[in-house]
Formats: sequence, structure tokens, C-alpha cells
Amino acid sequence: MRSPPPHAKKIARERIAILFARAREFYPEDPAISRRCVALARKIAMRQRVRIERRFRRQFCRHCYAFLVPGRNMRVRIHRGKVIVTCGECGRQMRFPLEERREIRKE
Ligand SMILES: [Zn+2]
Repeated sequence: MRSPPPHAKKIARERIAILFARAREFYPEDPAISRRCVALARKIAMRQRVRIERRFRRQFCRHCYAFLVPGRNMRVRIHRGKVIVTCGECGRQMRFPLEERREIRKE
């Protein structure tokens, strides 16, 4: 069995963060580029077996990989203690538990 280099996961996480930043940056200009960034970030996450950070997990549609922007192509509502996100690109929904928002932000 081949074990990955020790920093592979750290590098993967950094690349994912960069890709999401790029997706956000490109969205107003060309949403198709944003979608490709998201798809690539997911591929890296799967290959390196890293989780996509919570702050990024709600920024894309897990069905069509569209980068989601509230008020543009994303609808968010709360129903029975769950956050329901509707993707404006494919119309499908994702559900997240409410407590996932409990996250300390350092900015
Ligand atoms: Zn979608």
C-alpha cells in the first residue's frame, strides 16, 4: 500500500480554500468557471479523503456543483429545525442541521 506524503491532506485543504475563493471571485463574471472550481475542489477532497470545510459546504450545490450565492441562485429557509437550501440552477434541495451554524468565526 502506498501512503500519501504527510502534507498531502494539508495541501489539499489549502487548494480547496483557494478554489472556493476563486469560485466566489469569478461568479459575477462567469458562473461556469465557478462551477468548474467547485467540481475540482470536490475531486481533490475525494482523492485526498479530506472533508470540505463547513464554511464552504453550503456554498455549492452538491447535485450540480453550482457555486451558490444567496439572493442570486440560492434560496435558504428554515423548516422544522433544518436549513433547506434550494439551488437556483438545478432546483434541487439540500438540508443541513441548524446547529451546523454554531461555528466560531475568526475574522
Ligand atoms: Zn444545483
